[in-house]
Parts: sequence; C-alpha cells; structure tokens
Amino acid sequence: MAQQLDLHRYREMLEKERQRMLRQIRTIDAGQDQELSESLSEISDYDDHPADVATETFEREKDRALRENARETLERVDAALRKMDTGTYGLCDICGQTIPAGRLDAVPYATLCVKCQADVEGP
Ligand SMILES: [Zn+2]
Repeated sequence: MAQQLDLHRYREMLEKERQRMLRQIRTIDAGQDQELSESLSEISDYDDHPADVATETFEREKDRALRENARETLERVDAALRKMDTGTYGLCDICGQTIPAGRLDAVPYATLCVKCQADVEGP
C-alpha cells in the first residue's frame, strides 16, 4: 500500500533542519576563530600553560565532533531534498520499501528504512 506523504510539510521540516545545522556550523566556526586569537595572545603572555592547553584541546575536540555531526546531518538533509526532487522521498535507498511516515516525522532526513539502517550501522 503506497502511503501519501505531505511532501510540502516534510520539505519545510528539512529546510528548517538545514538552516539549524548551517547556523550551528557557523557558530562553531566563529567561536573557534575567536578562541584561536585569544589563545595566541595568551601564548605570547605566558611561557607555559599545560592545563589550559589541555582544556582548550578538549573543547576544540568537542566542537569538532559537533561540527562533524552537523555536517553529516546537513548532507543527509540535502540527500533527502534531492530525493524529494526526484520523487523518491520516503523510499528506502537500499530496499526501496516505503519509510513509514512516523519515522519521517521523527527523522525527516531518513533515507533508509529502520531495517536497512540497522543493517548499515551493524550490531
Ligand atoms: Zn530498506
């Protein structure tokens, strides 16, 4: 049974998610630029600050992971939007089965059904 999806609604959700991710990436990038110039001026003031450097490295790692995550989501959102344009939105990329609307409501950029997603991600 083919399900009727309100594509307009999902497109809006995707566009919103896209903006949110872009904003997140921009915020992280802006923060890192600022931190970088701050830490550079600190380095010239003090000789050695191992603890600060460790904290900063950790913060930067966290930002990097967040940014990475946002980028990945952004790519999935773009892929979902492309599927919408080609008329395959809501269909699993692997098995071609219909992705239930309930799943798309939770994850509008889902391009795989639950089963294939689990297969891809592994145990
Ligand atoms: Zn599938």
